[in-house]
Amino acid sequence: MENRFQMFNTLTRTVETIIPNEDGKIKMYTCGPTVYHFAHVGNLRSYIMEDVLEKSLRFIGYDVKRVMNITDVGHLSDDADSGEDKMLKGAKRENKTVMEIAKFYTDAFFKDCEALNIKRPDVVEPATNCIPEFIHMIEVLLEKGYAYLAGGNVYFDTSKLDDYLVFSSAAEKEALKEGVRDDVDVDENKKNKSDFVLWFTKSKFEDQALKWDSPWGVGYPGWHIECSCISMKHLGEYMDIHCGGIDNMFPHHTNEIAQSEAYLGHKWCNYWLHVHHLNEKGGKMSKSKGNFLTLSLLTEKGYAPVIYRMFCLQSHYRKPLEFSYDVLDNMKNTYDKLIKKIAEIPAEGDVDEEAYATYRRKFEDCLCNDVNTSTAITVIYDLLKSDVNGATKRKIIGDCDYVLSLDLLKNADALKNGATANVDAELENFIQEKIAERKEAKKAKDFAKADAIREELLQKGIAIKDTREGTVWELV
Ligand SMILES: [Zn+2]
Repeated sequence: MENRFQMFNTLTRTVETIIPNEDGKIKMYTCGPTVYHFAHVGNLRSYIMEDVLEKSLRFIGYDVKRVMNITDVGHLSDDADSGEDKMLKGAKRENKTVMEIAKFYTDAFFKDCEALNIKRPDVVEPATNCIPEFIHMIEVLLEKGYAYLAGGNVYFDTSKLDDYLVFSSAAEKEALKEGVRDDVDVDENKKNKSDFVLWFTKSKFEDQALKWDSPWGVGYPGWHIECSCISMKHLGEYMDIHCGGIDNMFPHHTNEIAQSEAYLGHKWCNYWLHVHHLNEKGGKMSKSKGNFLTLSLLTEKGYAPVIYRMFCLQSHYRKPLEFSYDVLDNMKNTYDKLIKKIAEIPAEGDVDEEAYATYRRKFEDCLCNDVNTSTAITVIYDLLKSDVNGATKRKIIGDCDYVLSLDLLKNADALKNGATANVDAELENFIQEKIAERKEAKKAKDFAKADAIREELLQKGIAIKDTREGTVWELV
C-alpha cells in the first residue's frame, strides 16, 4: 500500500514517512504502566495519544499489531536502578501483597482507559509472565560479552556500544556523561556509571516479595529488560514503531535499544514516538509532589472523561500541555457546543460518496501530518459549516470518530433524544430532582422524608444547604 503516514521520529529527530518492515503491516509497542498506584492524568495523555496513533494507522489502512507490557516487578522509584521498589512501596502503603496491588491497579488502569475510549492493545503482558524469556536474553547478553556479573547482580556494560546514548545530541551526551547518576547513591558494582541492572540478586530489598530462580541465584529482573523481551516475544526481531512518554527516552528506551540490539546483532526498531508532559502551572506533575490528578478526580469534579480526551487532542503531542481547570471548563463548553451542532444536523439525503471521500481524505491528511489531531478536529468544524447533506455529514463524523473517539454521534443523539450529553449534567438533573422532592416533602410537613433525602444525597457525597436564594449544593 501507499505509505503516506509521517511522524516525528525521535531517533533521527526528523519527520519521516513510516515505511513498515512488512508492506501494509505495522508492529507497534507501547510501554505500559507500573501498576503500584492510580495513573495520573499526565500519564493518561500518553495513552490517549498512542491510542490515536494506533487508530490513525488502522484508519488509513494498515493492519496494526500492538503490544503493551504491565510492569508488576522490577521498577524502582528512580528509573536508574536506585531508590525503592515501586510495587513494594504500593504494597506497604496499602497493607496488601504485591500481587493484590498489581491486580487492583491493573484493573483501575484499564477502567480509566475504557472511560477515555482507549482501545485495549492486541496483546497485554505482565512482566511476571515472562521470567524465562528475561533469563534467556540475559544469558545471551552474558555469552556475547555485553553483560557482566558483579556483587551478585547482572549488569549491562554500556561501554561495549559505540553509540549508547542514541537519543541524545552531542552536547547532551557530554552533559549526561558528567551528570549520570552523580546525584544518587552510587552502585559500586557498576563498571560504568550508565551501566544498568538486568537481574538483581543482591538487592537492597531484603523483603522483595517476588523472586525467581535464575542461573545467578534467586532474584528478580531489572525494569528495562521486560520491554525488550515482551516486544520480541509477540512482534519478533523487527519492530516498526515504539512509543511512550518523553520521560521514558532516558534511561528506559535508551537501555531497551542497547540490550535489544546487542542481543539481536541488528537494528531493532525504526521509529520512536514520544508524548510530551502535562504540566500544571509551569511544573511537571507527579505523584510525589502531591498534585496528583486522577481521571476519577476529574469525573468527580464534573468533567466527563471525553472532555479530558478532547483537551489532549486539541494540542499537539510534541508540545508540553498546560493543565488548568479554566482550560478544562472552556473545553467542556467547546465540546457541548460541538455536540449541539452535530445534534442539529438534519436527517436528509443519501450519502454523497464524492463529498465523503474528500472530507475523509482531508481528515486522514491531518493524521498523516505527524498526528495533527487539532487540525483533524478542524476538519469536522469545516464539514459542519459546509453545505454537504445531513446523511453525508453524519457518516463522515461517525467514521472519523473512530480515531477521535469523542462519542460525537452517541452524545449528539442522546442530546436529541432529550438525555444529557455529560455525566455532570446527569448528576445536576438528579440533584435538582431530589431538591424538588425535598421541597415538596417540607411543604407537606414530612420532615422525616426531607431529612432522608438530605441523608441520601450526603451518602453520595453531595451536601445541600438552604439559602435565601433557594437550596444550593456542593460536592464534599
Ligand atoms: Zn518500556
